[in-house]
Parts: sequence; structure tokens; C-alpha cells
Amino acid sequence: MRKFAVFVLLGALSLPLSALSAGDWVGYVTYTPKPVPTAVAMDAAGLKWLKDTASRLGPDGFTFLGRRDADHWIAFNTKGGTWVLQVHDEGAKFNFRGLVSPKTGKLTVEKGVQWEGLGRQADANKSATLALEYAAKARAAKDLFSSEPMTATVGTMSSAKPETKMPPMEKKMAPSEPKKAVPASEGKPVSMKPKTPVPAKQAEPAKKEMAASPMEEPAAPAPAMAATAMTTPKMMPPQGPASAAELPWKRLLEGNKRFVSGKVTHPDQSMARIEEISKEQKPFAIVLACSDSPAPPEVVFDQGLGDLVVIRTAGEVATDVELGSIEYAVDHLGVAYLVVMGHRDCSIVDETLKGGDLPANIEAVAAQIRPAVEGARFLKGDLLDNTVRENTRNVVKKIKDTPALALAISEGRLNVKAAYYDTMTGKVSELP
Ligand SMILES: [Zn+2]
Repeated sequence: MRKFAVFVLLGALSLPLSALSAGDWVGYVTYTPKPVPTAVAMDAAGLKWLKDTASRLGPDGFTFLGRRDADHWIAFNTKGGTWVLQVHDEGAKFNFRGLVSPKTGKLTVEKGVQWEGLGRQADANKSATLALEYAAKARAAKDLFSSEPMTATVGTMSSAKPETKMPPMEKKMAPSEPKKAVPASEGKPVSMKPKTPVPAKQAEPAKKEMAASPMEEPAAPAPAMAATAMTTPKMMPPQGPASAAELPWKRLLEGNKRFVSGKVTHPDQSMARIEEISKEQKPFAIVLACSDSPAPPEVVFDQGLGDLVVIRTAGEVATDVELGSIEYAVDHLGVAYLVVMGHRDCSIVDETLKGGDLPANIEAVAAQIRPAVEGARFLKGDLLDNTVRENTRNVVKKIKDTPALALAISEGRLNVKAAYYDTMTGKVSELP
């Protein structure tokens, strides 16, 4: 299925993980209005490596040169005969896109300048140099996402809190499993503000990564999950009938059945309901759905006022704000069920698949979706639909990787379900 991706990742995964400071800020990225050519060039060995990769990919190919997870990757594509190198390192806040000349190896920066505010050309050079460092590490199968090359040069955002140190963690990788974020190393030159409290990566129950896995999301961590080597003790969720935890999902499916059959009841939409929930809201589920107009959760689940916490973004992507909204609903409203709902013919996923330059804010959404393209590219069937499904799974994974939510899951305060809404039939189904 993902032979090529696995092929290029094998080297990287066979080495032990080195240190990562998952949330260090080392600069910031803006978009360049037009590409900035640089004198920075990939060395001969690197160029040969890209040539080999390009010849395997063909004229319209895409692959990850290395990938830890949805937020840490370096990608290469040959669309339209041009070579495009992209680096996305969420931990370091480094986001780069540039062209590589197949002849000279020189980089033209399309995105990722003003990394340090040195001026456009100097920043482009610096960004290109940094991108090549990632590429070199990918080629040498070293940790791609160590922030060490960057931390020494920046002081502009040092108003930050002290760095959160983490004890080392070891985790055995399956071949198809991306590298996980690992703790910050001791003795790093600069300590910056961690974006998120990193320790939650450990508190989270071991989880499967293979997006194509047929396994269901269990209501609670299943015994089989304990097979993954973790050094941290497991927190067991409160005991209780699994069916009780799934009641919100059943209720949603029942509403969807009414919707599909045309027997909607429009529950909880009376003035009495308004009065009731004006005193206290007790929503029974959170739905993170796409903002595309064919996919409104209250309608497709036939629910009313005060029933659902609905969060909608293009491509149902979850960044800090959406994750915070989920956390809020879990912690303050006591909602214990979350459905992440992708849908057929998602327009932003389609746009992301087309590639090409996007305006900055739309690119920010596309960047969240792009890892799903790779996951879907080698699957049989429709690329768009496969990407929608892969993206939904990635969002679920990101939610489960979020410290506060991982804790809620481990304590049995939250269950997460991936779902797919078929805009042709109106039917919502569980997404394996
Ligand atoms: Zn959509």
C-alpha cells in the first residue's frame, strides 16, 4: 500500500530517536509574495538522492522523505516536472516550501522567509539552508526534527517560560509507524516556550498509528494496546458497561436514521427547551465537522438546542483553538463523547489534493490536511475519498495526542469516534 513511503522511511525508523523539544519557538514564518531565488544549493550527494527519488516517483509524484507524525514531516514532490521540497516542523514552527533546481540543486524559496527578520533575501537564504539541513538529516536517516540547529540563533521570543523537561521515553516502532515526539534533551543551548505541555504524550494510552487499520476506536483502551512498549504506567479508565459509553453515538445514529428516512422529529427546538437550557446546558456529544455547507451536524443527526457542541472548520482540522474548544466542552460542560466527522467530496481536501500555491490562510488549513494525501496516495480506490478518510483519522489521532484530551480519554471522561458523512445519501457511519 505504501511501499514507497515505507521504503524511504526505513532508514529513519531503524535508528534510535534523538532528542526533540516538541514545542520550542525558534522563529516565525511568513509567506513571500513571490518566490525568492537563493544561492543555497543542495550538495551533489543530496542532489543525486533527490534524482533517484524523483525517478522513482515519476513526473507527478509525492512522498515523504521523512515523517514523524502529521505535524513533523519533510516531503518532496515532482508535480509538473518541478521539484518541490516542503518541511513542516510544528514543534519548531518551521514551515518551508521551495523549489529545487534539478540541474544546480539551488533552492528558490516560496514560503518560509522572514524566519529571523534579517531581510527577505537573507531570510530566504537562511530558510533554504535550514530546509537543506532537514533534507540532509532525512537522507542520513537522523532525527529530522531536532531543534538544535535553530535554537542558538534566535532570541526574539525568549520572554517565554522555562522549558519543560521530560524524562526519556522509549517506544518501539512498527515499520509503518511514524516517529513520535520525544522529550526535550538536557543541555540544549536555548530554552523557549513549549507550545503544549509535552508530558501528556506519555500519559496517553498507547495507540495504533496505521491509518488503514481496521480496528475500531474502543470506548476505553483495549487490553491489546498494552502490547506497545511504554515505560509509563497505564491509567485504567473507570469500569463500566462499554455500551453506556457508546450511548451518545447510538443517539446520534438514531437521529441520522430519522434524517435519512425523512422522519425527523426536530427534537429540542421548542421554547420550553430554550428555557430549560438557559439555566444549564448539558450537551451529550461534541461533533467536530467540516464547515462545508452540506455537513451541518444538528441537521444530519436530527438534534436540537443544547444537544451538541459543534465545532466546524474546513476539513474538520483541529488546531489549538479547536482543541481548546474540545477541552473546554470536556472539562467544563462534562461532555464525554466526541465525533470527528469527515464527509464525501470535501472541497478543501480536494483543493489540497490539487496542490499549487494557496493564499496564506487557506494554506494553513491545507497544511493540516496534506499529510493525509500521502497516507491515501497508495490506497486503492478514489484518492479524494481516501484522503477525506485519512484526514479524519489524522484529526482523531491529533486529538488523542493532545495532553489534556489524552488524559480525559485515559480517565474514561472522553470517547472519540471517527465518522464519515456521505453527502450523497445523508448517512453517517463509523469510520474504521
Ligand atoms: Zn468539507
